[in-house]
Amino acid sequence: MRRPHALLLPFPAQGHVLPLMELACLMASQGFIITFINTNFNHARLLSSTTTPSSINFISIPDGMQPEDDRNDIAKLCHALMTFMPLHLRQLINIMNIQESDKPTCFIADEGMAWALDVAKKTGLRSTAFSPASANTFTNMRSVPYLIEHGIINEQDGSAEKPGQVFILSPGIPPMNVDNLSWNCFLNSESNKIIFQYVVNNNKALKHAEFVIFNSFYEAEKAVFDYLNSWKMLPIGPLLSKHSSICLSRCFWAEDKTCKSWLDEQSDNSVIYVAFGSLAIIDERQFQELALGLELTGRPFLWVIRPDLTGKTTTRLPEGFSDRIRGKIVEWSPQQEVLAHPALACFITHCGWNSTMEGVSNGVPFLCWPYFADQHLNQSYICDVWKTGLKMMPDENGLITKEEIRGKVEELFGDEGMKKRALALKEMAMKSVDKGGSSFENFITFIKVMKDDV
Ligand code: UDP
Repeated sequence: MRRPHALLLPFPAQGHVLPLMELACLMASQGFIITFINTNFNHARLLSSTTTPSSINFISIPDGMQPEDDRNDIAKLCHALMTFMPLHLRQLINIMNIQESDKPTCFIADEGMAWALDVAKKTGLRSTAFSPASANTFTNMRSVPYLIEHGIINEQDGSAEKPGQVFILSPGIPPMNVDNLSWNCFLNSESNKIIFQYVVNNNKALKHAEFVIFNSFYEAEKAVFDYLNSWKMLPIGPLLSKHSSICLSRCFWAEDKTCKSWLDEQSDNSVIYVAFGSLAIIDERQFQELALGLELTGRPFLWVIRPDLTGKTTTRLPEGFSDRIRGKIVEWSPQQEVLAHPALACFITHCGWNSTMEGVSNGVPFLCWPYFADQHLNQSYICDVWKTGLKMMPDENGLITKEEIRGKVEELFGDEGMKKRALALKEMAMKSVDKGGSSFENFITFIKVMKDDV
């Protein structure tokens, strides 16, 4: 009998590769052969950060950029992906289709690579789109015609008709500031325009997807799923590393395994975990203030300082800091393990959706420090909808001061209700992925359809 064989294609960024890899592992546990397609650039990074073999197949294709190009320039990256990658992908699938056995049978595209659904269609593969962001962020991006029709954005380039305007798609969905739409937060209007075009192209290709699946769960974004009101839109999350033993090549940086032993030495419910995901850059002044704020709390902390966190090649901590503190600093943590540790008390986060779902799944209250795009919306979910976190408020100069940091940490530690709500939300999340839960059932539906005709 033929085995189902899924090709998976993430957008080439850490916050996209990780959750799609979780999905790949889940599908592998359901009997799928998995081929995971990275860009050549990211493939090399993954290989250099891990030595653990994986039971899923990795293949890589060019992203269309030159080796020396800056891949953090998202507009440049999107332009290259759109222009060069469809041909490489098509050639790859055509070659795989010639094989006698184990030909690909389905295609899962990150919604940020939805253009690839066109390629899948032309090569005869059934397909699904996967959203690593919230369903609300997905819905905002798909609402371009509504936003144009209501005079909220400009038809040509997606720019705000009235900067700062707040809109509500439907009652119960958090208000959204037009400036935080994903195509409006880049360096300049030219970059924004390229991203807007990229989103519009992706929106068109989504019609080929049999499902859109989300790393989210119904109860977390009830109003949005009710608004979408479609059998095609399936929350299957939160996706967690339950199957990490079968695929470990996931991170661009090597995970610092000493976190666990350090956490083991701390009392339960005592540690502040600080991490800003894979992309956010903190300016030097804010970095220093954060260090002083953590010191001022007098509490143990685990702080991820990525090598590029301040956008500089070296980061400077305040004078004598390392001798005075009760904290541990690492370059990259095994975040899911960290958040699951009983020593964890709270999470200072930039509110990336993966970090948000991981915190929720572990019942950890948040201190929110969003930077751009969907992070502001995710903060609204945490603080205004679920009420499981507090917002860090900048002063009149845009600085989150050390006093604000200490104040919010103390407020959170003193708030029993916050912890209770975080645990209740965790319960809901776990129920949804357990047998019979809504995410579990949706996943089964998706798997069944993707296995059809094999
Ligand atoms: N992450 C990690 N170790 C770290 C910091 C982050 O493994 O030290 C992971 C985290 O678990 C999450 C991802 O990196 O899965 C970051 O994704 P998120 O959506 O939170 O933020 P982004 O990087 O996309 O801004």
